[in-house]
Amino acid sequence: MAAPKTSVPEHIPSLFENVNIQFDRAAAIMKIHPGLLRQIKACNNVYSVQFPIRKGKDYILIEGFRAEHSHHLKPAKGGIRYSEDVTRDEVMALAALMTYKCALVDVPFGGSKGGVRINPRKFSVPELERITRRYAAELIKKDFLGPHVNVPAPDMGTGAREMAWIADTYEAFHPGSPDTRACITGKPYQQGGIQGRTEATGRGVQFGIREVFGHDEDITALGMTPGLAGKRVVVQGFGNVGYHAARFLQEEDNVKVVAIGEWDGGIYNPDGLPIEKVNRHRNRTGSILNFPGAKNLKTGNEVLYLECDILIPAALENQITSRNVDKVRAKVVGEAANGPVTAAADAILRKRGILIIPDIFLNAGGVTVSYFEWTKNLSHMRYGRMSQLLENLEAETFIRETETLTGKTFDPKARQTLLRSHDELALVNSGLEDTMRSAYRDMRKTLKSRKKIEDLRMASYVISLEKIANAYLDLGIFP
Ligand code: NAD
Repeated sequence: MAAPKTSVPEHIPSLFENVNIQFDRAAAIMKIHPGLLRQIKACNNVYSVQFPIRKGKDYILIEGFRAEHSHHLKPAKGGIRYSEDVTRDEVMALAALMTYKCALVDVPFGGSKGGVRINPRKFSVPELERITRRYAAELIKKDFLGPHVNVPAPDMGTGAREMAWIADTYEAFHPGSPDTRACITGKPYQQGGIQGRTEATGRGVQFGIREVFGHDEDITALGMTPGLAGKRVVVQGFGNVGYHAARFLQEEDNVKVVAIGEWDGGIYNPDGLPIEKVNRHRNRTGSILNFPGAKNLKTGNEVLYLECDILIPAALENQITSRNVDKVRAKVVGEAANGPVTAAADAILRKRGILIIPDIFLNAGGVTVSYFEWTKNLSHMRYGRMSQLLENLEAETFIRETETLTGKTFDPKARQTLLRSHDELALVNSGLEDTMRSAYRDMRKTLKSRKKIEDLRMASYVISLEKIANAYLDLGIFP
C-alpha cells in the first residue's frame, strides 16, 4: 500500500541547520541557561586553508577545512573527509555531531571534523600523498593537529593509508616527541593502529541494531516479529561503514541483505545478496553492478524506496528529505551515515510510526574504538598484553578443579567461552559492544521516563546536552 502523501516541497536546510534543528528540539525541553546553550551549539573555530599542488604540468588549488566545534573536553576528535562536496558548513555540522556523539557514548573528547574538497578518484596515489601531507602540515602550523589538541580519524574517502601519512608528517615536525602516534587514529596496525578499528563503525552499527532488536516489545510494537534473523535489510553506500555493517549483520545475525545502493546504481535480490561475494565482485570489476543473480537498479537512490524491515543509509547526508520521504517503505531507518535524514523528513517518518535509530548513536563505534587506539598509543602498550596469559591459566585451573571436584566434564560451549582468547580484538569488540548497549539503554530509559521526549533522537540529544552542560559548569565558566 502506498504511504500517505504528507510532504511539501521545501528548501532543504544545510546539514548544520538540520543538526541545529535537532539541537533546538532537545534544548527546548531542558533547563539549561540560554547563554550556555548558545555556547554548546556554536562551532568554536574553523580553519580554512588553500594550497597548490602540481598535477602533470598544471597547478591545482586545493581547499581544506578543519572545524573544532567544542573544547569542553580535549583533545577535539573527528574524521577527515575527502569529497568534492566538502564545504565549511558541512565540516561544522559534522564537528557538532562529533561533540554530541562523544558525549552520548562517554568518549572524553570535544567534537571536530576536517575535509578536503577533492574527488580522491581523480588523483594518483603520489598526488593524494602530497595533498594529505600538505594538509597535515597546514593543520600542524595552526595547532589543529596533535595528540592533546586535535586527533583526526578516517571518514568518507580516507582510510588507514592517509592516517599513516598524517602520523608520519606529524612525527617529522616533532622528532623525538614520545606521543606522536596518538596524533591520529585509524592508522595501519603496524603504525600504532588497533585491531578492529577499520571495521569499528560497521561493527557499532551491528551492535546498535542488535541491541534495538533485543527489546522484543519495542519491535512487536512496530509490527515486526522479535529478533533480527530473517529481517530484510537494505544498505545505501557499500563503503567502509556500509560494507562492514552489512557483512556482520548477515554473517552473525542472519539478516537478509536484499539490496545495496552505490553511486553508480544498485543491486537487488529478494532472496538476499551474499555480502562477501558482492565485495569480491566489486573489487574485481570496479562496481557492484551486474552481480550474478541480482537485478540492477538504475540509481543508488532507488534502494531507499524498497520495502524492507531495516533501511541503513551509509553513504551521505541529506538522502531522505521532505522531497522523497513519502517513498520510504522501511519499518526502521538505521542512520549509519551522518545526517542522512533531514529534520523535516525525520518529523514525517516519526509521524508514520517509522523508528529512526539516530546517527549520533548508531555510528559512534568508530570514535569509540578510536578512543581505545588513542589510549593505547599514549600507554605504549597493546591491550591484553599484561593479562592474557594469566586469565587463560586461571580459566584452565578453574575448569580442571571444577571437573575434579564434581566428577563431571564441562559443557564444550562453556569451556570454549571460558578459554576464549582475551586478545586485543576481543577486548576492543567487547568494549565496543558494551558501549553501544549502555548508550542505547540510556536512550531508551530516557525516552520512556520523560514525557516530553518524543523519540530516540531527542533522547540522545538530551543525554548529550546534559553531559556537555555539566562539563562547562564544572569548568566554572557559567555560574
Ligand atoms: P566510504 O567513502 O568508505 O564509503 C562511502 C560509500 O558511499 C562509497 O562506497 C561511495 O561510493 C558510496 N556513495 C557515494 N555516493 C553515493 C550515492 N549517491 N548513493 C549510494 N552510495 C554512494 O565512507 P564511510 O567511511 O563508509 O562513510 C560513510 C558515512 O558514514 C559518512 O556519512 C561518514 O561520515 C559516516 N561515518 C563514517 C565513519 C568511519 O569510521 N569511516 C564513522 C562515523 C560515521
